[in-house]
Amino acid sequence: MSDIIHLLPDSVANQIAAGEVIQRPASVIKELLENSLDAGATSIEVVVTDAGKTSIQVIDNGKGMSETDARLSFERHATSKIQTATDLFALRTMGFRGEALASIAAVAQVELRTRQKGEEIGTRINIEGSKLISQEPDLCCEGTIFTVNNIFFNIPARRKFLKSNQTEMANIMTEFERIALAHPEISFKMSTPAGLLLMLPAGNFRQRIVNIFGQRIDKHLLSVSVETPIVRISGYTGTPESSKKKGAQQFFFVNGRFMRHPYFAKAVQNAYERLIPEGEMVPFFLTFEVDPAKIDVNIHPTKTEIKFEDDQTIWQIVLAGIREALGKFNAIPTIDFDTAGRPDIPLFDGNAENVRPPQIKINPEFNPFVSSPSPKPTSLYENPQSPMPTPRSASIPPPSFQPGAHTPADVPPIPEFTGSTPAFQDMQPPVKPQAAMFVPEAPKQDIPDTLYSSQTIEEQSGWDIATAQFLQYRGRYLLCPIEEGLLMIDAPRAHLRILYDEIVSDSTSHTSTSQRLLFPELVDFSPAEAVVLQSMGEELENLGFDLSPLGGGTYSILAVPGGLEGINPVLLLQNMVSDASSHPTDAKEEISQRLALVMARKMAIPVGQQLSLEEMRDLAARLFCSSNPNYTPDGHNISTIIPHQTLAARFC
Ligand code: ADP
Ligand code: MG
Repeated sequence: MSDIIHLLPDSVANQIAAGEVIQRPASVIKELLENSLDAGATSIEVVVTDAGKTSIQVIDNGKGMSETDARLSFERHATSKIQTATDLFALRTMGFRGEALASIAAVAQVELRTRQKGEEIGTRINIEGSKLISQEPDLCCEGTIFTVNNIFFNIPARRKFLKSNQTEMANIMTEFERIALAHPEISFKMSTPAGLLLMLPAGNFRQRIVNIFGQRIDKHLLSVSVETPIVRISGYTGTPESSKKKGAQQFFFVNGRFMRHPYFAKAVQNAYERLIPEGEMVPFFLTFEVDPAKIDVNIHPTKTEIKFEDDQTIWQIVLAGIREALGKFNAIPTIDFDTAGRPDIPLFDGNAENVRPPQIKINPEFNPFVSSPSPKPTSLYENPQSPMPTPRSASIPPPSFQPGAHTPADVPPIPEFTGSTPAFQDMQPPVKPQAAMFVPEAPKQDIPDTLYSSQTIEEQSGWDIATAQFLQYRGRYLLCPIEEGLLMIDAPRAHLRILYDEIVSDSTSHTSTSQRLLFPELVDFSPAEAVVLQSMGEELENLGFDLSPLGGGTYSILAVPGGLEGINPVLLLQNMVSDASSHPTDAKEEISQRLALVMARKMAIPVGQQLSLEEMRDLAARLFCSSNPNYTPDGHNISTIIPHQTLAARFC
């Protein structure tokens, strides 16, 4: 039998290996920027065409490459950064594997132009799918210019799986943001053929943060600085007021490299315990300097997790460092042990006449058997300077249960519940297709004993919502006896379903109402967020938003959807963008639905909202006219029936 094993040609091996390193245009940007940093550049410019699908260009003023190095740089495992395995434990460079350029050249058409400092002439190399096309002397500037064209031109299956331009651009901006934040001492420029996207002059860390995330973050940055033999931590953490439910900008860097570290993030979060509402998070920008031998970055090239040798100790240091920053800011009371409890003793000025014997003050009225109001406990939050945020629920408006309000065009209006209200069975169920359920999460709770629809409810003889008796239990569940048993409705979820259906229906039929703001509000987005926002411009407009870009990621909110009274439009938009960032999709319908869900969540009544009988009936009636009275759009149970038998069984 003949032998069947053979070595793969380099070009194929490179393509396979490239899959590990280069997944999308953003991976190319990351690798090229890191190389420019390692080459000692002080100024780096990126030009992206067609979200990097057509072309990515990175221009640096770093040290450049010799003719031989330029050719060698595209070989796999060709690197100038390490020589022996021990060097791996003293890494000060971003790269060290010598894989990136070989991988990029395997899946794209690459041009390299480079000239070393002090040399008169440089080199130009063209390489496509790992094949050298040309190499010749070149009259380029000092430094290096990489141009990567038509990524995945030779792997159509991978090119096809690239996402929309908006999504790919958002990924690029995310990588760019991370690298630019880690290196404020370097000037960066990002542009597209249409114009400049971001210009970041060299400066300090704070200036870089503000240049990327907008001027308004500045007043929320508390400086953090800790120096220990194990780690030096510096940077900024947000004031308690800057906390958000979602999408807070949180960045850790170690030795100039972005890292994800959920464990240390928990330490930051812990420092804010009782200062911010539960479930919220603050922005932070923290850089760690550690001995490179104490961390392991030798993990997967695209992973951003980094292992620390002393992670538990560092956890404590992070916690203490953030607490100290908050203490300085007066966010939490600090105890000065030297003076705590000490009376304020005036200095003796040498004049005995000024010294009076101590007097004892007594209260002749005091009667120990008469109880006096107990002193108010001193609370953490009493400090008037303490920036304790006001409870968020305060901004939730009372429910607007005007029957018929927000009624979608294709749903018959719910009649008012006057004495002559028609019985529920007289109402026509909406002739409306079931709203497409997106990301149908598995229902979090038990499946209701009986699934029903307006149809089955209608079939129930003798149940008339207009006269039905409801009871509200624990500010949340509506209980109502019906023929089959005890109907239970989760009121906030029912309201969410109703609002969601109405918002989706209004926005798809372009009948959403819009309300102009008397005083336009400003909202800031990071470059990556701004790309996401732009990608859903049309859907936001359909909902009733009118936004005007002011440049630098700042938008002016000129109008908001009707019915949002009392809801902070800035927070709402921020939530929408952060939700969209964490659920990237190119499907227009899905974008609209996600936006509707975020909006409905903000508008729905909170748990604890007491409803009148009339409101309960109205809510139930509208729920049973909705597209799915059983589940919320995100897959949670809304209603259930406990059958009589189940109840009776409890009393046997
Ligand atoms: P690594 O960065 O892991 O060494 P790369 O494949 O990214 O591997 O780069 C290979 C080599 O090419 C680098 O070690 C460096 O010597 C050289 N190189 C790459 N980009 C540049 C650049 N922009 N300027 C100067 N040298 C560069
Ligand atoms: Mg590299």
